[in-house]
Amino acid sequence: MKLYFLPSIALWAVFGNGDQDLSSEHPIPCNNFYEYICHKNITRVPSRLRDVRAMEVSDDIDQYQEYVFHASNKQRLWQSVNPDIVSKWLVQFNTYWKGVNWNEHQKKHESFLNLDAHEKYKNLENSFEGYDFQILTKFYKSLKLSVEYLTELKIPISTRNHFYHGLFDEIRDIHILNIRTMSKFSEDRKNELIENVRNLKIIFPYLEYNDVKVWRDAKTAYEKEYYRLKIMIYEPNLSPIIVDKIIRVAAVNPAMEIFEKYITSFTSRFVFQHITAAASGLSFNYQNEIHISVFTMFNPIADPKSVYDQFLYVLCHELQHVHYNVDPPVFDEATWASEKQCVVDRIDHFAAAYKTNRANWTGAPFSYEDSANVAGLRLMLLYVAQKTSDSQEIRDTVERSVARFCTKNRENLHHNPLDVSINVAASEMPTFNSLYNCKPGDRMYVAPENYCKTLNMDIDVEEYKSQKIENDDLFVLTHFMDVLEDTAVELDAANITTFEGKLFDITVEEVEEQEESKEGSAESSSSSSSESDEESSVERELDEVSDGLDDSENETELRKSEIASTSRSSFIWPATVFTLLIKYIKF
Ligand SMILES: [Zn+2]
Repeated sequence: MKLYFLPSIALWAVFGNGDQDLSSEHPIPCNNFYEYICHKNITRVPSRLRDVRAMEVSDDIDQYQEYVFHASNKQRLWQSVNPDIVSKWLVQFNTYWKGVNWNEHQKKHESFLNLDAHEKYKNLENSFEGYDFQILTKFYKSLKLSVEYLTELKIPISTRNHFYHGLFDEIRDIHILNIRTMSKFSEDRKNELIENVRNLKIIFPYLEYNDVKVWRDAKTAYEKEYYRLKIMIYEPNLSPIIVDKIIRVAAVNPAMEIFEKYITSFTSRFVFQHITAAASGLSFNYQNEIHISVFTMFNPIADPKSVYDQFLYVLCHELQHVHYNVDPPVFDEATWASEKQCVVDRIDHFAAAYKTNRANWTGAPFSYEDSANVAGLRLMLLYVAQKTSDSQEIRDTVERSVARFCTKNRENLHHNPLDVSINVAASEMPTFNSLYNCKPGDRMYVAPENYCKTLNMDIDVEEYKSQKIENDDLFVLTHFMDVLEDTAVELDAANITTFEGKLFDITVEEVEEQEESKEGSAESSSSSSSESDEESSVERELDEVSDGLDDSENETELRKSEIASTSRSSFIWPATVFTLLIKYIKF
């Protein structure tokens, strides 16, 4: 990795600090960090699973084979469909499509409920007339593809993925400590902010609540309801396409009833969004419930290091939306407004190209996204600083984490242009100047006294510098996906096609209990077999890896040998794996 930075030092010497042509072939970090990163062409590994939005999935609903319908008793549309239920899910389709204006959609639904029956019918018929059909297909398409993906992934059934939650909890706690110690808000206000952070919920699609049987049942429930209504309804007053749209929304309900019983710790509105986004690369914070894509955004097996860094960036960004979203601040509006203005000014600073093309261009409407970026990247740095040994690792981490934003089309419907956003966030990193040796006058340079504040917090630059010598922990974490994958291979080898949720739905407590009960029995009785081999293989990895993190060939070899060494073990394997991880990763 160290090689990455050397050419940029060389380029510096050539270009100096003067004004640069920003579209030059060799952008430098102090003038245009985004272009500098993109120019490096850091290899991007395609996501493990394809994003449903980039695929041509048929609009058809799978026929439920064993279900025979008798169309003897035809009914009119509103005799068979409950308009309140249709309006309820239409709110969620609107939110999925139009993003953060959730309160507007919800209010619309609430006033809908006060209408009389005929007004409701008319209201919905009018709403669906111009409604984009494709949006109404998204729930089912994601559900259908998710059943395929879950079948393919064969990840152990779980309601909680301890690796990702452990990471989230650690970062959340750093953020809480940061507010507690650095914010100038009163204790009451700080407690309020901290309470909001503590109440955040997060889900990692396909890694938890991932029992394919439940997802398949929900898919079937959707199909049954769709075809039942399709056959039953005779509605001469409406065009078939409007009826079809309404049926597609009505069919969400029985599928959601299954998910609502399964994913009980999240709100129903969020679960709908979770299902609809599961097969896409979307990550979001929907009123303090967070969904972070893993397999549809990254490829944890092929490129664990980059995934780890990119994942951290997304996680920290979504976490910060607890403070920064379209809702107005609930206290001390003046402080929030001045912090927002600081970010808007920074957007302005980097948006010259966009302002030239459009006279009234302003980044203000999406500045909450940039505030989340600024605060999120700082939070990520605080975390990374505790895990890394030198500045080069911090540079690598930051560069890998933002490289995924290098795209041809930088403009985005719900964010400021990517180059502007990344430059704003990077230039507000408290260590950016020292990491890249930027000087006053450079476009990316911000004097420490001018940093945009977040949550009224002081910035201690020292906290953002590397704090730690070893990175063994970091390496073990990045290999968690291998462990899951190996487990799936193991299940495959044992020819297990139906999982029993209980067997693998392991919590930390259960593992500890199992570990205790097994102590002296399983471990000693199998001393010559797989379990001791596994442990030693993990230890061996740690030793060799600390010599050279980049030796990917070595890693591949080790991975192969680990798979070979574990192929003899049986069902206690997942528990063993978790035990090992718990031992090495301090959750
Ligand atoms: Zn965002």
